[in-house]
Amino acid sequence: MKKLIPLFILFIILCGCSFSADTDSESFFAMDTYMTVTVNDKDSKSAVKYAENEILKLDKILSAHNKNSEIYKLNKNGSGKLSAAALELTEKSLEYSKLTENAFNPAMLSVSKLWGFPDKNYRVPAEKEIKTALKTAKPDKISVKNNTVKLNLKGMELDFGAVAKGYTSDKIIRGLKKRGTESALLNLGGNVAALGVKPDGTEWNVAVENPDEKGNYIANLRIKDKAVITSGGYERYFKKNGKVYHHILNPENGYPAESSLKSVTTVGENGAMCDAFSTALFVMGKEKALRFWAESGLDFDVILYTGNGSMIVTEGIADIINSDLDYKIVKRSDYE
Ligand code: ADP
Ligand code: MG
Repeated sequence: MKKLIPLFILFIILCGCSFSADTDSESFFAMDTYMTVTVNDKDSKSAVKYAENEILKLDKILSAHNKNSEIYKLNKNGSGKLSAAALELTEKSLEYSKLTENAFNPAMLSVSKLWGFPDKNYRVPAEKEIKTALKTAKPDKISVKNNTVKLNLKGMELDFGAVAKGYTSDKIIRGLKKRGTESALLNLGGNVAALGVKPDGTEWNVAVENPDEKGNYIANLRIKDKAVITSGGYERYFKKNGKVYHHILNPENGYPAESSLKSVTTVGENGAMCDAFSTALFVMGKEKALRFWAESGLDFDVILYTGNGSMIVTEGIADIINSDLDYKIVKRSDYE
C-alpha cells in the first residue's frame, strides 16, 4: 500500500488537469465568415462562450459595414474617437502598411466598393472611377491623436478586412490565457490560431487548402502557439466575360492583384501581422514576397503556392510541415 500512494500522486501530476478538463466546440457566423472555437479546459463551455462573445463584440466595433460600428461612423464622418481595440487595430494597420510599402493598404474601401466586393453586387468599374477612388486610398493621410483618428482626405474609407481576423485571434488567445485556458484552437474563417497543444499533448494540425482543388490540401502544419493564415484570389471573386476578378486589390492601380501566386500562407505568433502580411505578400508576388520575408527581420514564415502543385516554403517551418507536393525550402541566407 505504501508504494501505491506515491505512484498514484505521480499519475495525477503526469495527467495534469486532464482529469477535470473537457473539450467544447462552437461554430457561429461573424466578420462575414464561419468561425469555430474549440477549447479544452476545466470549464470549456464558459471559455468557448467567452471567446464567441468577445469576437461578436469586436465585430460590432471593427466592421466597416455595420452602420453602428466605430469604423463605419469614422468613415462617414471623416474623424472619430475610437475605443482601445479600434485604435490599436488602426495603429497596427498603419504600421503594416508602412512595412509593406502599402501592399497592405487599409484605406481601399472606396475602391473595393466600386467593384461591389463588400455587398457582392459585382461589376467591373470604369478606369476613371478607379483612378478617382484610388486618390482617397492614402494611409499616410490618416492621423491619430488622443484616441481620435482623422481621415485627412475627402472620401477616404477604412476597411480592416485583411487584418481584423488575425487581430481578433490574438486578442482572444490572450484573453483565454488570462482566464487560465492552456489549450484552444480558433478557426476564424480559415484564419487559424492555436493556443498551446491538443489535449493529448501533441501539436495542433492545420491543413492548408489547395487553391486548385477545393477540398484538397497542399500541406499540413503541426503548430503550437501560432497563427496560420491564408490569402488567395480563389476565396472571393466574380467572373465577367470569362475573366476572373478577385477581392485582393493592388493598391497601385486599384485592380485585382495580378499575382504570380495562387495563395500565401503566413505562420507566426503575431496573428494581426500574419493576416496583414498574407494579403500584402499576395499583392507583392513571388520574388518581392520572398525578398520581403528575408529582409524584413520580422518573425514569420510563409508558404507561397504558385499553382499546379508547386510551392515554396521558408526555413522556419521546414520541420513542422508535411506535404505530398515537391517543394523548395528557402533560407534567409539565400538573400544575403
Ligand atoms: P480574407 O479576409 O478573405 O481571408 P484577406 O485577409 O486577404 O482575405 O483580406 C482580403 C480583404 O481585405 C478584402 O476582402 C478587402 O476587404 C481587403 N483588401 C483588399 N485588398 C487589400 C489590400 N491590398 N490591402 C488591405 N486590404 C485589402
Ligand atoms: Mg489578410
